[in-house]
Amino acid sequence: MSLSLPSKINTSIRMSVAKRKLESRKIDLQDGNPLEQWGLAKIRNDIKNNKELKEEFGQREIDRDLIKEYKLFKFRELLAYVMENSPYYQSLYADKDIDPSEIKSYEDLERLPLTEQEELANKPYHFLCVSRKDIAREFTSSGTTNMLKRMAYTQGELLEIVDSVISGLKMAGMDSKEDTLQIMYPTITATWDPGLVLSKACDLAGFSSVINDSVGAHDQIETIREAGTTIIIGTSSFLYELSKQVSELIEPGELGIRKIICSSEPLTEEMREVIESAWGCRTLRQWGMTELGLANAIECDHQDGFHLNNPDFLVEVIDPKTGEILPPGEKGELVVTTLRRKCMPLIRYRTRDITSLIDEPCDCGACVDQRICDIERWTDN
Ligand SMILES: [Zn+2]
Repeated sequence: MSLSLPSKINTSIRMSVAKRKLESRKIDLQDGNPLEQWGLAKIRNDIKNNKELKEEFGQREIDRDLIKEYKLFKFRELLAYVMENSPYYQSLYADKDIDPSEIKSYEDLERLPLTEQEELANKPYHFLCVSRKDIAREFTSSGTTNMLKRMAYTQGELLEIVDSVISGLKMAGMDSKEDTLQIMYPTITATWDPGLVLSKACDLAGFSSVINDSVGAHDQIETIREAGTTIIIGTSSFLYELSKQVSELIEPGELGIRKIICSSEPLTEEMREVIESAWGCRTLRQWGMTELGLANAIECDHQDGFHLNNPDFLVEVIDPKTGEILPPGEKGELVVTTLRRKCMPLIRYRTRDITSLIDEPCDCGACVDQRICDIERWTDN
């Protein structure tokens, strides 16, 4: 269907407004890890635009300690927000006789009940904090737990997600001029199609991309040659199977693929080795959950833990049996709070994934962000 002229103009205005808002477009690759730089820019903007934050942090350099304090501030701000707007959290805290304004330190977090996936699956609209007219898109996902979960996002939130995706791609080595991303997700029946999100992100970033959902190696290789593809993204199991076929057809390095990104499913080191030797390039893992916005963390070239979209999330690792918060390095269940979401924020959401936190600089140059270790039990998409 072709667009009429006025709607074409509207679309291009929306595109240019969206582009201006994207922090990821301003990132200079020389300044350090692009995902960390994106996070720092978000934090700086927040401090600049919030009177209380400005008074508290305005004169300080952004380091690991400041980020921890900043996240606690955002967490408490979110608690106040859900007490005003979220029927779910209002009744959860009232039932347990909790006064969220008493949560003042990281130690206090343990006093707040965890949010179970069943709750989100059973009554999604109790989590909704905005009026339905402010919802831009709704997505459902079942994951491997067979619980259908529905999430809604505002336009601004979708743009933030796209912004973080672009920064993640830049961290994976995508550069506007030379690279083309080949998106190999199978055609998805769910409403949250990662291929479409990625292709939108590439459009806004000025990157080239091509979608091919074929399962045949010959077909994918033909597209790689035609489009000049340099970076590939797809689900882990698909890329593993494809790589086994490809290794029969090409020499490693022959097609000029520089990087492969495996997402949506776990990737063992054995699988990674098969993929890397077939294509002759580094393979990175990506982690995300639909409930959290899909693109939440990705490895850098050092393959030493996942870099988070840091300002978006407060992450904890807890003992899944006792609920006790565990220190960095100790393995437990990952629990996530979405610090910046306004539509359906989640507080202390149980991911059912087992990992540990890395609270020290990465060799890639990212020096203030927390990372999460390998995800061991993968239970959702
Ligand atoms: Zn790194």
